[in-house]
Amino acid sequence: MPESRPSCPFCQSVSVVKNGSTRHGKQNYKCRDCGRQFVENPQWQRASERAQNTYDLLERLLLEKIPLAGIARVLKVSERCLQRYVNHKYENVPLQVEIQPKPKRRLTIQMDELWSFVDEKGNKQWVWLATVYCYYISS
Ligand SMILES: [Zn+2]
Repeated sequence: MPESRPSCPFCQSVSVVKNGSTRHGKQNYKCRDCGRQFVENPQWQRASERAQNTYDLLERLLLEKIPLAGIARVLKVSERCLQRYVNHKYENVPLQVEIQPKPKRRLTIQMDELWSFVDEKGNKQWVWLATVYCYYISS
């Protein structure tokens, strides 16, 4: 049974070969296509990648309406720094919202009528009931 090998994290090639082991004992691989070396599931991440992951997480946490103090504790950043980030975000939110007009759709009106006597037998009054169905399908 052939053992499964990871794909290259740089070019996604599956043409990789074992290439010794790291000084921490992890299997090292070399990509036959781009020639770069890598280990599977590295403990380290590039600083830029780590920062991007933190920002992605921060954006998701902000959408959850979690208090800033809680987010600051989870992300291990200062509240002051987080507040500055949020202020900056709010400053860049456009104050006017652009609304796209919705396309016109079918309009159905259902009419119904009845008559009734008001006060006395001779005072016959019609009652009309109109129900309007609007079919607007939001895109
Ligand atoms: Zn590669």
